[in-house]
Amino acid sequence: MIETDICIIGAGPAGMMAACAAAQGATKAIIIESNTTAGRKLLLTGGGRCNLTHTGSTDEIIKAYKPFDRFVRHCIYEFGPQKLLDFFASQDLDTVVENSGCVFPKTQRADDVKQILLDELEKRNVKIFYDKKVKSIEKYKDGFVILSEKFSVSAQSVIIATGGLSWPQTGSTGDGFKFAEILGHKIIKPSAVLVPLISAEKFCSSLAGVGVQNVLITCKISGKKISSSGAMIFTQNGIGGPAVLDFSRNITDLLSDNLKISIDLLPEIKPDRLDKIITANNPKQNIVSVLSQFLPKALVQTICTENKVPQISAGQINKKLRKTLVEKLKNLPLTVIGAEPIEKATATRGGIDIAELDNKTMQSKLCKGLFFAGETINVDGPCGGFNLQFAFSSGFLAGKSAVELLGKIA
Ligand SMILES: Cc1cc2nc3c(=O)[nH]c(=O)nc-3n(C[C@H](O)[C@H](O)[C@H](O)COP(=O)(O)OP(=O)(O)OC[C@H]3O[C@@H](n4cnc5c(N)ncnc54)[C@H](O)[C@@H]3O)c2cc1C
Repeated sequence: MIETDICIIGAGPAGMMAACAAAQGATKAIIIESNTTAGRKLLLTGGGRCNLTHTGSTDEIIKAYKPFDRFVRHCIYEFGPQKLLDFFASQDLDTVVENSGCVFPKTQRADDVKQILLDELEKRNVKIFYDKKVKSIEKYKDGFVILSEKFSVSAQSVIIATGGLSWPQTGSTGDGFKFAEILGHKIIKPSAVLVPLISAEKFCSSLAGVGVQNVLITCKISGKKISSSGAMIFTQNGIGGPAVLDFSRNITDLLSDNLKISIDLLPEIKPDRLDKIITANNPKQNIVSVLSQFLPKALVQTICTENKVPQISAGQINKKLRKTLVEKLKNLPLTVIGAEPIEKATATRGGIDIAELDNKTMQSKLCKGLFFAGETINVDGPCGGFNLQFAFSSGFLAGKSAVELLGKIA
């Protein structure tokens, strides 16, 4: 049996950062990982470019995690975006900030982020045991025994960083939830967040792959207005892209019956200006070409067809048809009939109940020496680097707190 002070389960961003923070001084830390490599999901982030965090004041960052903002406050103050960027900068990883506030490595390679974490772990003598799927965690008076097939570890503290349930092919299969449950914790039923939506309108599939740079999506649920803006893309089953994923995060707990939503495809242009653009243009120019200056041609054609607006010259479009067209461009109605399954979601909502964790340490309130980090906890943030930031922040705090606890034990 291998003996260590702190055993971290999962070599994702949360587990690797937890191990960096845990391997301090004489404290021994190891990681057990079920895959043959670390950070498989990390490599997919930001389309392989890794949107590792977001810019903004600490309070703005914390607010973005609503309804989990109170829980994340402490770990973001401990190890927020600036400290994360300082950590990577000290390892010579420069970053760039896009107009949206999203932060990426300058090299645009998620692999560089992963490599820095692995180098740091090597410097700190953290051994990663690969290809070892943890099967169970047993609690004893003086610590824990972690069992995998033909492999066991005894540790004083354990950090569970096994991720959620989304993209299970990357290794996140919800094992942490089972371990936590056996150790007496309540699991909030996992569901998909940041997920593409399925719509009733069949025309979406014919537009699959067509994207719009900036839209405003709105709906009303129980009198409450919900909105989200940014880029979107039509998919085989409906709609996706950052604006839709963020929107899904706000309706995920409320989505039961069919939901009527409205998409403003041109939020920067007011209806009367749009009307003038159509009329003031070259009257001989086809209406589709006029509007294709602002939107993809296929989308304009579909909107015309769906609303029986003939694709004729702008000058021939009468007032009534113009009104219809402007109305649909500013308020494209869609009926959301569901969301794609959790396997296709960017993140998981649900998991370890935050009411059972001490947010100042990430330690369980029910089981001393047991810590959690990352997506396994019932916390999710919007698109834009917030989920990786939470993985890093909670991982750092869990690792640091596990060392402090050992100090108290010694
Ligand atoms: C396609 C995609 C793109 C994304 N892009 C972004 C982005 O750009 N920015 C952003 O902020 N977020 C993004 N996310 C979300 C982000 O990747 C996750 O929130 C983050 O990876 C969570 O980190 P984690 O360490 O908690 O879990 P994970 O990254 O899921 O890591 C968990 C690790 O635990 C291991 N494990 C699980 N069970 C066991 C077991 N029984 N024994 C041993 N090991 C085990 C797994 O193999 C895995 O390596 C994206 C997600 C997806 C799916």
